[in-house]
Amino acid sequence: MTQPFPSSTPASAVLSGLGAIRPWLEDLYRHLHAHPELSMAEHETAARVVREVRGMPGGQELEVVEGIAGTGVAVVVRNGEGPTVLLRADMDGLPVAEDTGLDYASRVVTTNLQGESVPVMHACGHDTHVATLLASMRLLLDARQEWAGTVLAVFQPAEEQHNGAEAMVRDGLVERLPRPDVALGQHVLPGPAGSVKLATGPIMASCDDFRITLRGKGGHGSAPHTAIDPVVMAASLVMRLQTIVARQVPPRATAVVTVGRIQAGTKTNIIPSTAVLEGTVRTYDAAVAATCLAAIERTARAEAAAWGAPEPVIEHFDHLPVTDNDPGVTERVRAALVAELGGEQVRVFEPESGSEDFSALPDAWGAPYTYWGFGAFDAQEWVQAEDGGRTDDFPDNHSPHFAPVLQPVLDTGVRAMVAASMAWLGDRHWAVQPPSIV
Ligand code: ZN
Ligand code: ZN
Repeated sequence: MTQPFPSSTPASAVLSGLGAIRPWLEDLYRHLHAHPELSMAEHETAARVVREVRGMPGGQELEVVEGIAGTGVAVVVRNGEGPTVLLRADMDGLPVAEDTGLDYASRVVTTNLQGESVPVMHACGHDTHVATLLASMRLLLDARQEWAGTVLAVFQPAEEQHNGAEAMVRDGLVERLPRPDVALGQHVLPGPAGSVKLATGPIMASCDDFRITLRGKGGHGSAPHTAIDPVVMAASLVMRLQTIVARQVPPRATAVVTVGRIQAGTKTNIIPSTAVLEGTVRTYDAAVAATCLAAIERTARAEAAAWGAPEPVIEHFDHLPVTDNDPGVTERVRAALVAELGGEQVRVFEPESGSEDFSALPDAWGAPYTYWGFGAFDAQEWVQAEDGGRTDDFPDNHSPHFAPVLQPVLDTGVRAMVAASMAWLGDRHWAVQPPSIV
């Protein structure tokens, strides 16, 4: 029987260098925080990543693939025979005006793709992901004798736009990089600093956005019988779509169908010729998502047919897969995190209805993965709030007030990433007998 750690080198052998690089890590983080960039515009961030990697021990010789899907960067560290471990950090900020009062707060204002002037902030904490992944790489490079295998560090653009991972895959990720045996990702989230949270199975929902353009026949508001009214058609369709989850999704499954936007008409006495509905489907199971999307399409076509209207136009955009943590990989990472951080710092990740595009990377190779969270806020304040049922008082990701405490957030991100990686890279038996779980 394969044991979780047949002969692993402990992560502490690599992490012993953390104290020495901490000032660099904190400066790097503060710089990234003060200089956020929008999705697909992470040019300076990507350049900084490459500069930092080149400056690391042996960095000049590393294989660095730049410009994947524009700003994506992948670094390949080959260190003898062993497992290949993909580590992922997303790089983009958000169009949010920072209001944290931090002395390293962003004051960046930029022009978005629509030509509008917008403020930019690392309101989702992706700066912690970039900084802690670079620090993890530096420690691993400093301690090459402690591990064997290949590290594949992926710095991904445009997670917030939901298409950065997919864009990297479309730009030849699989052909350009070695196949990972396992992929690991992490996200800073509300929670006590110093802790991590993880869970097996689906932890973040899939997302499928849709647009339905109902086509009627325009006319005078006083003579509806001469027209086909898309406003009434849209009203009826919105109500019918709300019955999909109630009547067509199995009770044990979870799904949300929301119509978040509806637009038609210009004036009281004109029956418009079209109405547009936009909405989103969230589930934890691809089959349930398919059921909902098929029902939406069928219902929209039937609604139009009932009115004798032309076929509606149905479009799909912004697909995000379920983040479905592999049980074997997750348990192996859990054991590594418990060993490094202590059992009391390893919490349970309750499934969230938010979505994340990380899994598109491992899915491109069919590689197993796990994705965990690490806490952003002062632990004492968090635990007090938890006791009083007031954790919602803390700002969530995307808030202009989202300000992770510098430490122990950064140290925890590095310790978690290195410990999880070493669960594979430190396994001296890998070459002889790859663990059955991967
Ligand atoms: Zn976000
Ligand atoms: Zn995020």
